[in-house]
Amino acid sequence: MVATLIDGQAIATQIRQDIAHKVTSFQKQRGYAPGLAVLLIGDNPASQIYVKNKSKACEQAGIRSHVYALPATTAQGDVLEKIDALNADDRIHGILIQLPLPDSLETAAIISRIAPPKDVDGLHPQNLGLLFSGRPNLVPCTPLGCLHLIKSVMLSLEGKRAVVVGRSLLVGRPMGLLLGFEGATVVQTHSRTLNLGEECRRADILVSAVGKPGLITADHIKPGAVVIDIGTTRLTSSDGTVSLRGDVVFDEVKEVAGFLTPVPGGVGPMTIAYLLLNTLFAAEKSVAFR
Ligand code: NAP
Repeated sequence: MVATLIDGQAIATQIRQDIAHKVTSFQKQRGYAPGLAVLLIGDNPASQIYVKNKSKACEQAGIRSHVYALPATTAQGDVLEKIDALNADDRIHGILIQLPLPDSLETAAIISRIAPPKDVDGLHPQNLGLLFSGRPNLVPCTPLGCLHLIKSVMLSLEGKRAVVVGRSLLVGRPMGLLLGFEGATVVQTHSRTLNLGEECRRADILVSAVGKPGLITADHIKPGAVVIDIGTTRLTSSDGTVSLRGDVVFDEVKEVAGFLTPVPGGVGPMTIAYLLLNTLFAAEKSVAFR
Protein backbone atom coordinates (compact mmCIF):
# COMPACT_ATOMS: atom_id res chain seq x y z
CA MET A 1 0.00 0.00 0.00
CA VAL A 2 1.26 3.49 -0.76
CA ALA A 3 -0.30 6.34 1.19
CA THR A 4 -2.17 9.15 -0.51
CA LEU A 5 -0.49 12.47 0.24
CA ILE A 6 -2.60 15.08 2.00
CA ASP A 7 -1.66 18.25 0.17
CA GLY A 8 -1.80 20.91 2.90
CA GLN A 9 -0.46 23.52 0.50
CA ALA A 10 -3.35 23.06 -1.95
CA ILE A 11 -5.99 22.96 0.80
CA ALA A 12 -4.52 26.05 2.46
CA THR A 13 -4.46 27.92 -0.85
CA GLN A 14 -8.18 27.25 -1.27
CA ILE A 15 -8.91 28.45 2.29
CA ARG A 16 -6.84 31.59 1.75
CA GLN A 17 -8.72 32.45 -1.45
CA ASP A 18 -11.97 32.07 0.44
CA ILE A 19 -10.66 34.29 3.27
CA ALA A 20 -9.65 36.98 0.74
CA HIS A 21 -13.28 37.11 -0.52
CA LYS A 22 -14.58 37.35 3.05
CA VAL A 23 -12.08 40.09 3.89
CA THR A 24 -13.30 42.07 0.87
CA SER A 25 -16.90 41.81 2.15
CA PHE A 26 -15.77 42.73 5.68
CA GLN A 27 -13.99 45.79 4.37
CA LYS A 28 -17.02 46.84 2.32
CA GLN A 29 -19.30 46.56 5.35
CA ARG A 30 -17.04 48.16 7.91
CA GLY A 31 -14.88 50.47 5.86
CA TYR A 32 -11.59 49.08 7.20
CA ALA A 33 -9.61 45.84 6.94
CA PRO A 34 -8.92 43.36 9.75
CA GLY A 35 -5.59 44.10 11.46
CA LEU A 36 -3.04 41.68 12.92
CA ALA A 37 -0.10 42.71 15.13
CA VAL A 38 2.85 40.33 15.38
CA LEU A 39 5.45 40.68 18.10
CA LEU A 40 8.80 39.23 17.06
CA ILE A 41 11.24 39.34 19.95
CA GLY A 42 14.88 38.35 19.46
CA ASP A 43 16.67 37.08 16.36
CA ASN A 44 15.65 33.43 16.05
CA PRO A 45 16.12 32.81 12.26
CA ALA A 46 13.22 30.33 12.05
CA SER A 47 10.89 32.81 13.79
CA GLN A 48 11.95 35.53 11.36
CA ILE A 49 10.99 33.31 8.41
CA TYR A 50 7.66 32.29 9.98
CA VAL A 51 6.75 35.94 10.67
CA LYS A 52 7.68 36.95 7.13
CA ASN A 53 5.47 34.18 5.72
CA LYS A 54 2.57 35.16 7.98
CA SER A 55 2.83 38.83 6.96
CA LYS A 56 2.93 37.91 3.29
CA ALA A 57 -0.14 35.70 3.70
CA CYS A 58 -1.97 38.55 5.46
CA GLU A 59 -1.11 40.95 2.68
CA GLN A 60 -2.39 38.52 0.02
CA ALA A 61 -5.67 38.09 1.93
CA GLY A 62 -6.16 41.84 2.39
CA ILE A 63 -5.47 41.73 6.15
CA ARG A 64 -3.30 44.58 7.51
CA SER A 65 -0.32 43.13 9.38
CA HIS A 66 2.05 45.09 11.60
CA VAL A 67 5.27 43.43 12.72
CA TYR A 68 6.90 44.82 15.86
CA ALA A 69 10.47 43.51 15.98
CA LEU A 70 12.01 43.96 19.42
CA PRO A 71 15.54 43.04 20.52
CA ALA A 72 16.14 39.91 22.63
CA THR A 73 17.19 42.19 25.49
CA THR A 74 13.72 43.80 25.73
CA ALA A 75 12.57 43.85 29.36
CA GLN A 76 9.44 41.95 30.40
CA GLY A 77 7.78 45.22 31.45
CA ASP A 78 8.37 46.78 28.04
CA VAL A 79 6.82 43.79 26.28
CA LEU A 80 3.76 43.99 28.55
CA GLU A 81 3.48 47.71 27.87
CA LYS A 82 3.55 47.06 24.11
CA ILE A 83 0.79 44.46 24.49
CA ASP A 84 -1.30 46.89 26.56
CA ALA A 85 -0.99 49.46 23.76
CA LEU A 86 -2.05 46.89 21.13
CA ASN A 87 -4.96 45.75 23.33
CA ALA A 88 -6.18 49.35 23.37
CA ASP A 89 -5.69 49.91 19.63
CA ASP A 90 -9.04 49.51 17.81
CA ARG A 91 -7.29 49.01 14.47
CA ILE A 92 -5.73 45.79 15.80
CA HIS A 93 -8.07 42.78 15.99
CA GLY A 94 -5.49 40.06 16.50
CA ILE A 95 -2.22 39.91 18.46
CA LEU A 96 0.30 37.14 17.92
CA ILE A 97 3.46 36.62 19.96
CA GLN A 98 5.90 34.63 17.85
CA LEU A 99 7.21 31.76 20.00
CA PRO A 100 9.64 30.74 21.36
CA LEU A 101 10.55 33.87 23.32
CA PRO A 102 14.06 34.56 24.58
CA ASP A 103 14.78 32.75 27.90
CA SER A 104 14.82 36.06 29.81
CA LEU A 105 11.08 36.54 29.20
CA GLU A 106 8.16 34.85 30.95
CA THR A 107 6.06 33.39 28.15
CA ALA A 108 2.97 32.55 30.23
CA ALA A 109 2.73 36.07 31.70
CA ILE A 110 3.16 37.64 28.27
CA ILE A 111 0.49 35.47 26.61
CA SER A 112 -1.88 36.13 29.53
CA ARG A 113 -1.57 39.87 28.97
CA ILE A 114 -3.19 39.70 25.51
CA ALA A 115 -6.87 40.69 25.60
CA PRO A 116 -8.63 37.30 25.06
CA PRO A 117 -10.75 38.54 22.09
CA LYS A 118 -7.50 39.46 20.28
CA ASP A 119 -5.65 36.21 21.14
CA VAL A 120 -5.56 34.75 17.62
CA ASP A 121 -3.16 31.97 18.68
CA GLY A 122 -5.79 30.77 21.19
CA LEU A 123 -3.23 30.42 23.97
CA HIS A 124 -4.64 32.80 26.60
CA PRO A 125 -5.83 30.78 29.63
CA GLN A 126 -9.38 32.07 29.05
CA ASN A 127 -9.44 30.73 25.47
CA LEU A 128 -7.80 27.47 26.50
CA GLY A 129 -10.38 27.18 29.31
CA LEU A 130 -13.24 27.70 26.87
CA LEU A 131 -11.78 25.02 24.62
CA PHE A 132 -11.36 22.67 27.58
CA SER A 133 -14.99 23.22 28.61
CA GLY A 134 -16.23 22.42 25.12
CA ARG A 135 -17.18 26.01 24.21
CA PRO A 136 -14.29 26.90 21.89
CA ASN A 137 -13.79 30.53 20.89
CA LEU A 138 -10.30 31.28 19.53
CA VAL A 139 -8.52 27.91 19.15
CA PRO A 140 -4.78 27.33 18.44
CA CYS A 141 -4.21 27.46 14.67
CA THR A 142 -2.09 24.33 14.13
CA PRO A 143 -4.50 21.82 15.71
CA LEU A 144 -7.41 23.47 13.85
CA GLY A 145 -5.49 23.11 10.59
CA CYS A 146 -4.69 19.46 11.35
CA LEU A 147 -8.32 18.67 12.09
CA HIS A 148 -9.23 20.18 8.72
CA LEU A 149 -6.65 17.94 7.01
CA ILE A 150 -7.96 14.84 8.79
CA LYS A 151 -11.56 15.66 7.87
CA SER A 152 -10.51 16.15 4.25
CA VAL A 153 -9.85 12.40 4.03
CA MET A 154 -12.11 10.95 6.77
CA LEU A 155 -15.82 11.73 6.66
CA SER A 156 -16.52 10.95 10.32
CA LEU A 157 -14.13 10.60 13.25
CA GLU A 158 -16.76 8.96 15.47
CA GLY A 159 -15.51 5.78 17.04
CA LYS A 160 -12.03 6.17 15.53
CA ARG A 161 -9.02 5.69 17.72
CA ALA A 162 -6.73 8.73 17.62
CA VAL A 163 -3.27 8.86 19.12
CA VAL A 164 -1.58 12.23 19.64
CA VAL A 165 2.16 12.17 20.28
CA GLY A 166 3.08 15.26 22.32
CA ARG A 167 1.10 17.19 24.94
CA SER A 168 2.20 20.83 24.63
CA LEU A 169 -0.31 23.62 25.28
CA LEU A 170 0.33 24.99 21.79
CA VAL A 171 -0.30 21.81 19.83
CA GLY A 172 -0.62 18.39 21.45
CA ARG A 173 -3.24 19.07 24.12
CA PRO A 174 -5.64 21.17 22.02
CA MET A 175 -5.26 18.59 19.23
CA GLY A 176 -6.39 15.84 21.60
CA LEU A 177 -9.39 17.91 22.71
CA LEU A 178 -10.50 18.70 19.15
CA LEU A 179 -10.28 15.04 18.13
CA GLY A 180 -12.30 14.07 21.21
CA PHE A 181 -15.03 16.61 20.35
CA GLU A 182 -15.33 14.91 16.94
CA GLY A 183 -16.12 11.61 18.62
CA ALA A 184 -12.70 9.96 18.40
CA THR A 185 -11.29 7.98 21.34
CA VAL A 186 -8.10 9.84 22.10
CA VAL A 187 -4.86 8.59 23.61
CA GLN A 188 -2.45 11.40 24.48
CA THR A 189 1.13 10.15 24.53
CA HIS A 190 4.33 11.95 25.59
CA SER A 191 7.94 11.46 26.62
CA ARG A 192 6.97 9.25 29.57
CA THR A 193 4.72 6.92 27.55
CA LEU A 194 6.04 3.40 28.13
CA ASN A 195 5.48 1.75 24.77
CA LEU A 196 4.92 4.42 22.16
CA GLY A 197 5.05 1.98 19.24
CA GLU A 198 2.29 -0.18 20.71
CA GLU A 199 0.03 2.84 21.35
CA CYS A 200 0.62 4.26 17.87
CA ARG A 201 0.01 0.95 16.08
CA ARG A 202 -3.57 0.97 17.37
CA ALA A 203 -4.30 4.41 15.89
CA ASP A 204 -6.71 5.01 13.01
CA ILE A 205 -5.48 8.62 13.22
CA LEU A 206 -1.93 9.35 14.34
CA VAL A 207 -0.82 12.94 14.94
CA SER A 208 2.80 13.54 15.88
CA ALA A 209 3.79 16.86 17.47
CA VAL A 210 7.21 16.30 19.01
CA GLY A 211 10.06 17.79 16.99
CA LYS A 212 12.24 14.66 16.79
CA PRO A 213 13.00 13.60 13.22
CA GLY A 214 12.80 9.83 12.80
CA LEU A 215 10.64 9.23 15.90
CA ILE A 216 7.72 7.72 13.97
CA THR A 217 8.72 4.76 11.80
CA ALA A 218 6.73 2.22 9.78
CA ASP A 219 6.57 0.09 12.94
CA HIS A 220 4.39 2.76 14.59
CA ILE A 221 1.71 2.66 11.90
CA LYS A 222 -1.52 0.70 11.62
CA PRO A 223 -2.01 -0.17 7.93
CA GLY A 224 -4.28 2.42 6.30
CA ALA A 225 -4.02 4.96 9.13
CA VAL A 226 -4.25 8.73 8.62
CA VAL A 227 -0.87 10.16 9.68
CA ILE A 228 -0.43 13.87 10.38
CA ASP A 229 3.14 15.04 10.90
CA ILE A 230 3.26 18.34 12.80
CA GLY A 231 6.93 18.02 13.75
CA THR A 232 9.11 20.64 12.11
CA THR A 233 12.83 20.49 12.75
CA ARG A 234 15.27 22.69 10.82
CA LEU A 235 18.44 20.83 9.85
CA THR A 236 21.51 22.57 8.44
CA SER A 237 23.75 20.44 6.21
CA SER A 238 27.54 20.86 5.96
CA ASP A 239 27.14 23.15 2.91
CA GLY A 240 24.81 25.42 4.90
CA THR A 241 21.59 24.29 3.21
CA VAL A 242 18.63 24.33 5.58
CA SER A 243 15.93 21.67 5.28
CA LEU A 244 12.79 20.92 7.27
CA ARG A 245 12.16 17.47 8.76
CA GLY A 246 9.05 16.07 10.30
CA ASP A 247 8.84 13.46 13.07
CA VAL A 248 7.79 10.80 10.58
CA VAL A 249 10.20 8.72 8.48
CA PHE A 250 8.31 9.62 5.34
CA ASP A 251 9.70 7.04 2.90
CA GLU A 252 8.90 4.03 5.05
CA VAL A 253 5.65 5.29 6.62
CA LYS A 254 4.14 6.03 3.22
CA GLU A 255 4.32 2.29 2.47
CA VAL A 256 1.98 1.49 5.40
CA ALA A 257 -0.24 4.52 6.05
CA GLY A 258 -3.44 5.25 4.11
CA PHE A 259 -2.97 9.03 4.12
CA LEU A 260 0.08 11.07 5.08
CA THR A 261 1.09 14.74 5.28
CA PRO A 262 4.49 15.76 3.88
CA VAL A 263 6.95 18.12 5.60
CA PRO A 264 7.12 20.76 4.24
CA GLY A 265 3.78 21.27 2.48
CA GLY A 266 1.48 19.57 4.99
CA VAL A 267 0.61 21.16 8.32
CA GLY A 268 2.70 24.37 8.00
CA PRO A 269 0.55 26.07 5.32
CA MET A 270 -2.60 25.15 7.29
CA THR A 271 -1.28 26.90 10.40
CA ILE A 272 -0.97 30.11 8.39
CA ALA A 273 -4.42 29.68 6.81
CA TYR A 274 -6.00 29.25 10.25
CA LEU A 275 -4.13 32.27 11.61
CA LEU A 276 -5.84 34.32 8.90
CA LEU A 277 -9.19 32.70 9.70
CA ASN A 278 -8.77 33.42 13.43
CA THR A 279 -7.84 37.04 12.66
CA LEU A 280 -10.92 37.47 10.48
CA PHE A 281 -13.06 35.79 13.17
CA ALA A 282 -11.66 38.15 15.85
CA ALA A 283 -12.29 41.16 13.58
CA GLU A 284 -15.85 40.07 12.82
CA LYS A 285 -16.59 39.71 16.53
CA SER A 286 -15.09 43.10 17.41
CA VAL A 287 -17.55 45.91 17.94
CA ALA A 288 -15.19 48.84 17.91
CA PHE A 289 -15.00 51.10 14.88
CA ARG A 290 -11.40 51.42 13.85
P1 NAP B 1 7.16 21.02 22.72
O1 NAP B 1 6.49 22.04 23.53
O2 NAP B 1 8.65 20.82 22.82
O3 NAP B 1 6.44 19.61 23.03
C1 NAP B 1 6.95 18.42 22.55
C2 NAP B 1 6.14 17.28 23.10
O4 NAP B 1 6.72 16.07 22.63
C3 NAP B 1 6.12 17.20 24.64
O5 NAP B 1 4.81 16.98 25.08
C4 NAP B 1 7.01 15.99 24.94
O6 NAP B 1 6.61 15.24 26.06
C5 NAP B 1 6.82 15.16 23.70
N1 NAP B 1 7.94 14.24 23.49
C6 NAP B 1 9.26 14.54 23.53
N2 NAP B 1 9.98 13.42 23.27
C7 NAP B 1 9.10 12.44 23.07
C8 NAP B 1 9.23 11.07 22.76
N3 NAP B 1 10.43 10.49 22.62
N4 NAP B 1 8.13 10.32 22.64
C9 NAP B 1 6.88 10.89 22.77
N5 NAP B 1 6.70 12.19 23.05
C10 NAP B 1 7.80 12.95 23.19
O7 NAP B 1 6.90 21.26 21.17
P2 NAP B 1 5.58 21.85 20.43
O8 NAP B 1 5.56 23.32 20.54
O9 NAP B 1 4.40 21.07 20.81
O10 NAP B 1 5.96 21.51 18.93
C11 NAP B 1 6.14 20.17 18.52
C12 NAP B 1 6.66 20.13 17.11
O11 NAP B 1 5.67 20.69 16.24
C13 NAP B 1 7.94 20.96 16.88
O12 NAP B 1 8.74 20.31 15.92
C14 NAP B 1 7.42 22.26 16.30
O13 NAP B 1 8.37 22.92 15.50
C15 NAP B 1 6.28 21.74 15.48
N6 NAP B 1 5.25 22.73 15.20
C16 NAP B 1 4.89 22.89 13.90
C17 NAP B 1 3.92 23.80 13.57
C18 NAP B 1 3.52 23.94 12.14
O14 NAP B 1 2.79 24.87 11.81
N7 NAP B 1 3.92 23.05 11.25
C19 NAP B 1 3.31 24.59 14.56
C20 NAP B 1 3.67 24.39 15.88
C21 NAP B 1 4.64 23.45 16.19
P3 NAP B 1 6.65 15.81 27.58
O15 NAP B 1 5.45 16.68 27.71
O16 NAP B 1 6.58 14.58 28.40
O17 NAP B 1 7.95 16.54 27.71
